Amino acid sequence: MTVAFVQSAIYLVSAWIVMRSRSSNVTLLITVAFAIIFRLSILFAPSYLSDDIYRYVWDGRVQAAGINPYRYIPAAPELAQLRDDAIYPKINRKDWAHTIYPPVAQVVFLLTTRISESVTWMKATMLGFELVTIWAVAQLLALLGRPRQLLLIYAWHPDGFALHSMRSESVSRLYLQVPNDTPVSEWPDDRIWEALATRLGHGQDGWTLTPGPITEKSVLPMHSFVQSPMRHGRLFLAGDAAHIVPPTGAKGLNLAVADVGLLAPALAELLLKGDARLADAYSDTALRRVWRCTHFSWWMTTMLHQSGDPFERELQLSQLRWVTSSEAGATGLAENYAGLPIGF
Ligand SMILES: Cc1cc2nc3c(=O)[nH]c(=O)nc-3n(C[C@H](O)[C@H](O)[C@H](O)COP(=O)(O)OP(=O)(O)OC[C@H]3O[C@@H](n4cnc5c(N)ncnc54)[C@H](O)[C@@H]3O)c2cc1C
Repeated sequence: MTVAFVQSAIYLVSAWIVMRSRSSNVTLLITVAFAIIFRLSILFAPSYLSDDIYRYVWDGRVQAAGINPYRYIPAAPELAQLRDDAIYPKINRKDWAHTIYPPVAQVVFLLTTRISESVTWMKATMLGFELVTIWAVAQLLALLGRPRQLLLIYAWHPDGFALHSMRSESVSRLYLQVPNDTPVSEWPDDRIWEALATRLGHGQDGWTLTPGPITEKSVLPMHSFVQSPMRHGRLFLAGDAAHIVPPTGAKGLNLAVADVGLLAPALAELLLKGDARLADAYSDTALRRVWRCTHFSWWMTTMLHQSGDPFERELQLSQLRWVTSSEAGATGLAENYAGLPIGF
């Protein structure tokens, strides 16, 4: 049990380190190498967490004798000739339980024990399956690990801003900057796809835009608004009712959820226990985050949307060069984009 606890502690610490570090081939190689070392250490050790493996060997042996493994319990007199000192005494529930392992597992037990009926060999076979699993997961991740630009593209273009935001493998939300009060009828689907292709860089760096049916389109007037305080007497405001941000920072829903995350416990304390402290602090606490996100959304918008002013355009390009080439700049953007803690 102590060994299991130590192994679990090592596993948790390692998982924590891996999740916090940048992914790289070196991390992967170290992880796999240690995984193999840990498994080799238990290959020859006695089984201490589970003794099911003796049943695996037994089931293989029973099948090799031409007997249906589901027919008898190990202690049945019909199997007396198969008993030995190495496997049989260590089978659990041998006096009353039939095997529970399904047919495909039984085939594995049979094939494995045709090479050797030792527990070590059975463990080695299981490790082989683990290696296949690791390989399959790596293949799956490579398959799903699409280039970043397939998920989200923010495009600065002299014609105006464009955004490609994948919602699933086949559905995307796409944005095009158009002048205020533009009627949506001025933008038939073909014109939208053409403008998106130009602004997003269709054909550049091997990336292509795939057009499809447009299921919904509208012209969205963008603005920022914050209602402060977010409370009037017994009326508490949350979400879009209290603040509106332009969608460039993808913050609206996140802000609404963060508000509710603060408001729900505050209301519970107020109504169930008569304690008003959290409710009284709600507006100030929520507004700290609201202003941070409002600034971020405004900043992203002013960095990416065209105003037509050449001075502003150069400031935008300078800012974009900074956030795409400086680690400090990129980190600041990423921290705000991914989201600061709810109580920030
Ligand atoms: C085009 C677009 C894209 C967006 N993309 C993102 C994004 O990528 N990421 C992000 O975080 N946010 C995004 N947002 C913002 C996000 O959708 C909103 O900020 C969020 O939905 C606000 O949540 P809410 O609960 O405050 O308001 P809502 O979601 O608007 O909910 C209010 C509800 O109240 C109902 N209601 C209104 N009046 C009444 C009434 N009198 N009686 C009863 N019910 C009423 C409404 O029907 C509605 O269901 C986007 C918004 C738009 C418009």
